[in-house]
Parts: sequence; structure tokens; C-alpha cells
Amino acid sequence: MPETVVAAVRTAPRTTELREFPMPEIPSDGALLKMEVAGICGTDVKMYARPVVDAPVIMGHENVGTIAEAGPDFVKRHGLGEGDRVFVEHYVACYRCEWCHLGEYRHCEATDWRTNPDARRYGYTSCEKPYHLWGGFAQYMFLPWNCVIHKVPDNVSAELAGIATPLSNGIEWALYDTKVGFMSSVLIQGPGQQGLSQVVACKQAGAMPIIVTGTSRDRARLELAKTLGADFVIDVDAEDPLERVTEITGGEGVDVVLDCTAGAGVTPVLLGIDALKRRAGTLLVQGELAKFPDFPIKQLTEKAITIKSARGHSYRAVELALEQLASKRFPLELLTTHEFGLADVDRAIRAVGGEVEEDVVHVSLLPWRE
Ligand SMILES: [Zn+2]
Ligand SMILES: [Zn+2]
Repeated sequence: MPETVVAAVRTAPRTTELREFPMPEIPSDGALLKMEVAGICGTDVKMYARPVVDAPVIMGHENVGTIAEAGPDFVKRHGLGEGDRVFVEHYVACYRCEWCHLGEYRHCEATDWRTNPDARRYGYTSCEKPYHLWGGFAQYMFLPWNCVIHKVPDNVSAELAGIATPLSNGIEWALYDTKVGFMSSVLIQGPGQQGLSQVVACKQAGAMPIIVTGTSRDRARLELAKTLGADFVIDVDAEDPLERVTEITGGEGVDVVLDCTAGAGVTPVLLGIDALKRRAGTLLVQGELAKFPDFPIKQLTEKAITIKSARGHSYRAVELALEQLASKRFPLELLTTHEFGLADVDRAIRAVGGEVEEDVVHVSLLPWRE
């Protein structure tokens, strides 16, 4: 085992430097994960530009690796140990509250940096806290007793397991939150990794039609949406999306709208409200905006619309995402488009943000790659 661990540390907004940390002393109830893949998503782009904590942070919250060392009490608790490949949820839970007992670790206050200054969450927690290795942009990550891990099926590669996060969000938001099912009509706005994962979840559930919107910059992603099962794609720069949705649904509108856009302002929500069917449709929102001027609440209530919030994933959704990956039903390897090494974390995040590289869908950070 090496004596030091190299990690990419965010030291200021949009600034990363490589640092060495001493290899932590693993307690009997903890473990050490040798990192294989850290997925990068839109949240990283936002947190890189406007960090939620000022202290230095090893980012990387969608992590897959192999357990390199595990204390006996860790093995007893988790039933997993040295040599096991695992997907690590970014939530570090208390395992005592009601949310934790429900497998809803995302709602546990022990992992919520908004209300708990000592919260632990991979990719969000200061590397000055004990054990230091609280993010995936590093050669190793520390796993405490209260981490939330899932065994990766044997036939799923580390790269593929790297998309477990968007896929589990797809299952959570489309199937659990907005109840997409057999013959549901669905509008998915935004064909990034998140939108494409919703396509897969909706297709598997039997939804029809599945309509996906994007901009003219998203041509390759919209093609991929079709490959994964979208029935119609709309380029909002070339066509009026509301007109097209109305036409496709024979004037009815859709049952469910899932907003998977980034930085699009109020437009996706307004389109969503208009595109939903006459009564009792469901709209999933991202909540990027702190305020929504002139929100059409009258129209919303007259159409009896339910709003759901996109807020991560439950334990069960991750298990199903891993099963979905193992099934090989969809060519999900087409999503993993870009790979970078530890020295290129800055570029990797900017690629997700659309500043560099072309046709980016999902970016994998491989900490051991030269
Ligand atoms: Zn993410
Ligand atoms: Zn809890």
C-alpha cells in the first residue's frame, strides 16, 4: 500500500490543485476504496463555479471503486470487503433516523450540508475533516462505517457503473416520483446524461410516446435519445416545442413532464405547465432558480398539476439501476463518452459544462489514468 494518496483539491472557485495526503489509518469499522471511476455531472459544474463550502474539497460524488482494505467490523456490518467492487452513494448517513430506516439516505440530516455544518457527503465535505479523503477525484477514498455502498454486479464494468447515479435518478424521478408507467405519455426536457437516463427508465416502464427536447447543439444527444427509445425528439431552436407536443399527442398534452435542463431559466417549467394534459398531470422540477417571477400558479391549480422535486435517489433506485445495467437491455455504454485523468479534473468539469470538447454526454474521471 502506498504511503500517500494523490487527490485533486478544489481550493477556490474554478481552481483545482493536486495534493498529497497521508494514507489514512483505517479503523476496524472503516475501509479504504481504491477509486476506479468518478462520474461528473451538472452539479459539479455548479459547485465548481460557486462552491457550497469555502474550505478545500476533493470533489467527485458519483464514485465506483474496489475495496482495498476493510476493518473486520466494516466487513461484518456491510457484508462486503477487500476485492469487492462497489458503487458508493454520496450520502454518508446516520443510520438512526427514520429516513435512513426507509433507505432514503438523501434526506438524512447527517449528510445535509445545508442545515448541518458537520455533514458528510462525498464531493462536498472539506478535506480538512478527519480522514481527508471525502471525494472521488483521488486515488483512494475513505469509507466510514456509515457509508452507503452497493455491490456492482460482476458483468458491469467500472465505467458502466459510473452512470449508476443518473440512472438511479431516472428511476427515482420518472418511476417513483412521477409514476410513469405503461403507456404514460412523457416529455423529457434536456438530452444530457440525466435526460437520457429518464428515457431508459420510461422505456423500460412501457411509456409511450416518449418525447425529448434539446437545442441545435444537442444533435448527437438527440440521436442517442432515439437509440435509447425516445419516440420523438424536438430541436427547440428549429421548432415550436409546444406545437409539436400538441401535434404528437393529438391535442391532449402529456401525462408527465421531466425537466432535465441546465441553466435554461424559467422556460422549461413554463413549457412543462403548457404541455401537460388538461387535468392532473405531473411536473418534475429542478429548482435551479431561487425565485420564479410571475409564476403561473392560477394555470397550475386550474390544471390540477402536481409538482415533484428532483432530489437524488433512494437506496432501492440505485439497486434497480445496477440491475438495469447488468441486464444489458439498453446500449448504455454509448452514454460514457469522455474520460480524463486526475491531472485534468478542471478540463473534465469544463467539458461537462460545455466549455470544451464536443458531443459530451457523460464524463468519467479515472484517477489512475496517466
Ligand atoms: Zn451528480
Ligand atoms: Zn439518518
